[in-house]
Amino acid sequence: MRETVNELDNPTFRLAVAQFDQAAERMNLDPNLRERLKMPERSLIVSIPIRMDDGTVKLFTGYRVQHDSSRGPSKGGIRYHPDVNLGEVAALAMWMTWKCALAGLPYGGAKGGVRVAPDQLSRGELQRLTRRYAAEIFPMIGPDKDVPAPDVGTDAQVMAWIMDTYSQQVGFAVPGVVTGKPLSIGGSLGREEATGRGVVNVTLEAMRHLGVDLQKATVAVQGFGNVGSNTARIMQEAGVRVIAVSDKSGGLYNPRGLDIPEVLARYRVDGRHSLRDTKLGDWITNEELLELECTVLVPAALSEQITHKNADKVKCRILAEGANGPTTLEADQILTDKGIFIIPDILANSGGVIVSYFEWVQDAQRFFWKAKDIQDRLHEIITTAFHRTLQFSMAKRVTMRMAALMNGIDKVAQAHLARGLYP
Ligand code: NAD
Repeated sequence: MRETVNELDNPTFRLAVAQFDQAAERMNLDPNLRERLKMPERSLIVSIPIRMDDGTVKLFTGYRVQHDSSRGPSKGGIRYHPDVNLGEVAALAMWMTWKCALAGLPYGGAKGGVRVAPDQLSRGELQRLTRRYAAEIFPMIGPDKDVPAPDVGTDAQVMAWIMDTYSQQVGFAVPGVVTGKPLSIGGSLGREEATGRGVVNVTLEAMRHLGVDLQKATVAVQGFGNVGSNTARIMQEAGVRVIAVSDKSGGLYNPRGLDIPEVLARYRVDGRHSLRDTKLGDWITNEELLELECTVLVPAALSEQITHKNADKVKCRILAEGANGPTTLEADQILTDKGIFIIPDILANSGGVIVSYFEWVQDAQRFFWKAKDIQDRLHEIITTAFHRTLQFSMAKRVTMRMAALMNGIDKVAQAHLARGLYP
C-alpha cells in the first residue's frame, strides 16, 4: 500500500481502502479524486490524562478523524474500546462518508474513539474521560463542522457529557453538537432503536425481493448492544423468529425462537449484562452462532467477524451487516460465490445516521417530531436507498456492496468536482 501512511495501516483501514479501490476501478473514477478520497481530510490524536478514583493519573489515547466534508458537516460515532486505533477510526470515518452520501444526507464522514475498556471505569472516571476527550477535540467539532454520535461502548449519557462540555466552553447550550443524546436535552424520539429498525426495514425488503416466507424465516444476531438488541426485538415484532443472540461472552440459541422482550428484561435486570444468566436458551459460542442454519444472519458487534476462515461455514440466505466492516474482502467473495444476498453495512446500518440527521434538524429548528413521523421518514429514506442500490446492482451486474459503494462514492465525487480544488 504505497499511498497509505504508516500510522493508518491496519487491517480495518486496508479493508476500507480495498473496497474503495474496487469500486473506484469499476466506476473509472478520476485518478486525482481517487488519491484524495483514499485518505482522511483531517486526523487528530489526543492524550487524555484522567484522575482515577484511587488518586493516580492515567493517560488514555483518543482520536477524531474527518474523512470528507465536501457535502456538509462530517458525522460519525465515538467508540470506546481497548482495540481502538487510528487506522480503525479512519476506516470507520471513510465508511461514514459513503453511508451518508448513499442515504442522501447532507453530511460528510467522521469517526472518533478512545482506547479504553469503558466497563473497567467507574461512572466518575468515565465522565472525566469523556469531558477531557471532548475538550481536546473541541476545535474540530460543532453543529456546523463535525457532529459525533454513539458507537460501540458509548451511549446517550456519554453524548450528554460531550454536549455539556462543548456548551460550557462556548457559554450557551448547543444541543446540535452531538446526536443520540437524551430527550431532555434535545435528543430525538426513535434514535436509540434507529439502527436496529433500519436493519429490519431493509432486511424485510430483501426478503420480499427474494420471495422469502416471513413465517418460516429465522434470524441469528451477533452482538446484543444497541444495534443487536434492537434488531432482535424489532425483528420479532415484525413476526420473524429470532433463534440466536450473543454478546462478547457467547450466545443463546433456541430453534423454536427466543422471547426477546424476556431476554432483554433478564439481561438488564442485574446490571451485569450476562446473556448466559438469562438461562433462556442453549449456550453457544460466537463462532457457532455465525455458522447456524438461518434465513438471516445479522453481525452487530465488531468488524472482521466473517473471514476466509469461517465464511464457507456461513449458512444464511441473507447477511444483513448491522456492524461496520464485519466481512473481510476474502469472505465477501466466498459468500457471494455461495449466493448469499448481502445487505452491506453502509446501507444496512444507515438507520442510525438517518435518525441522527433528523435529531440534528429538530435541534436546529427547535421543533420536535412525533415518533411515528420519525419511523415513517426513516422507512422512506432507507427503503428508497435499498431499492436504488438493488436496481443499480441488477442493471450493472455488480454485488449489492459494490452498488452501494459506487452510489455513495459517485455523490462525493460529484461534490468534489463541483467545488473544485482549493486554492
Ligand atoms: P454496543 O457497544 O452497544 O454493543 C456491542 C455488542 O457487541 C455488545 O453486546 C458486546 O458484548 C458485543 N461484542 C463485543 N465484542 C464481541 C465479540 N467479539 N463477539 C460477539 N459480540 C461481541 O455497540 P453498538 O452501538 O450496538 O455497535 C455495534 C456495531 O454496529 C458496531 O460495528 C458499530 O460501529 C455499528 N453501528 C452502530 C450504530 C449505532 O447507532 N450505535 C450505527 C451504525 C453502526
